[in-house]
Amino acid sequence: MASAGSNAPLIGTSDEAPAPWKRAALGANLLSPAGDLGVTIFEEMTTLAVSTGAINLGQGFPDEDGPAEIKAAAQDAIAAGANQYAPGKGVPALREAVSAHQQRFYGLAPDPDNEVLVTTGATEAIAAALLAFVESGDEVLTFEPFYDSYGAIIGMAGAKHVTAPLLAPDFLPDLETLEEAFSSRTKIVLLNNPHNPTGAVFPRSVLARIVELAVRYDAIILSDEVYEHLTFGVPHMPVATLPGAAERTITISSAGKTFSFTGWKIGWLTGPAHLVAAVRTVKQFLTYSSGTPFQGAIAVGLGLPDSFYLGIAETLRQKRDVLAEGLRAAGFGVYNPSGTYFINVDTGPLGISDSVDLARRLPGLVGVAAIPVPVFCHPEGAERTRSLLRFAFCKKMDVLEEAAGRLATLKERL
Ligand code: PMP
Ligand code: GLN
Repeated sequence: MASAGSNAPLIGTSDEAPAPWKRAALGANLLSPAGDLGVTIFEEMTTLAVSTGAINLGQGFPDEDGPAEIKAAAQDAIAAGANQYAPGKGVPALREAVSAHQQRFYGLAPDPDNEVLVTTGATEAIAAALLAFVESGDEVLTFEPFYDSYGAIIGMAGAKHVTAPLLAPDFLPDLETLEEAFSSRTKIVLLNNPHNPTGAVFPRSVLARIVELAVRYDAIILSDEVYEHLTFGVPHMPVATLPGAAERTITISSAGKTFSFTGWKIGWLTGPAHLVAAVRTVKQFLTYSSGTPFQGAIAVGLGLPDSFYLGIAETLRQKRDVLAEGLRAAGFGVYNPSGTYFINVDTGPLGISDSVDLARRLPGLVGVAAIPVPVFCHPEGAERTRSLLRFAFCKKMDVLEEAAGRLATLKERL
């Protein structure tokens, strides 16, 4: 991680109990053993891409705006004066649109008043849900590699972060190992499906086992489904649709991924009223509410016809195929993702075993930035994923082609 300077005065000595901010930093691998405080890997790699002029296939954000009618709806809402606080649980139009969307795609019908909560991106939904239910001594189980904010908030809450590995080539969990990762202290099983960074889409058999184990250990299922519409030839199945799951599941999504407005930070969660009320209690003291004109605009987006949703997945599939071909031609071992907009590659065939080192050198070598997968892991997982590198393909086709061309020169520059 990029260092924010050693000897930072706010870092306590090792014999003190770490402060919450420090536990957050440790949970997301932002503190080196020497005490250097880093920024997130996304920020580090984007800064490097900007300073070197590299094509940024690191941080996952699209290089094109989403649908014009959604933008126009936000502009109209601002012009019409929708510029003061939104209600704490979200503007009614968006809560109704979230419910209708769940009904249309999955046959779920959360009550817009009590079973839907609008949040400041999925990030706030994750934080509020974990902080609502988890305390010191509890365990939170995630798959590994894990999205960085999971580790940060679990750490901030003072809970123990237990992981179950996702294994190449398909990045699905071994179900026996998964079972062993549960315990009587498991308060939450936090899954991310489709999965960032691996691109895995969990099949029904894996989801069914997660539900079975959550029921056995009386754990809440927190399901981060921000990539729900970005799957390629395999359907996305919300875990909440499985028998026995709905009453213990909170499902999270975000407009950032589906509508390509990552800067608007509009997210939401759905679940049983008593769980949503608990999360809302925390959420109202994090941001209270945010993004009034954007909330209404995303309600318009959620009402777009099925053809829009099929279109974004098909366009991304084509982009995946172009980048995958380029990465193969460059000599990487390529793991074809079933969902998300990320491809993982093995750097081993190029004779490179340390993807963290390669990620730092890649912008200078060939003008492309990527994200090393080990930073999303605890030490054992980092060893297992040591040669994995993640590339984002939510970029214009000509940008991906240019990146592929640059990567083709990597072998001779190493
Ligand atoms: N969860 C996952 C798995 C993500 O990849 C991201 C962001 N890319 C988020 C949560 C955060 O979403 P948001 O930008 O809506 O806060
Ligand atoms: N979720 C994005 C990714 O995985 C990054 C979001 C962020 O920068 N926090 O690339």
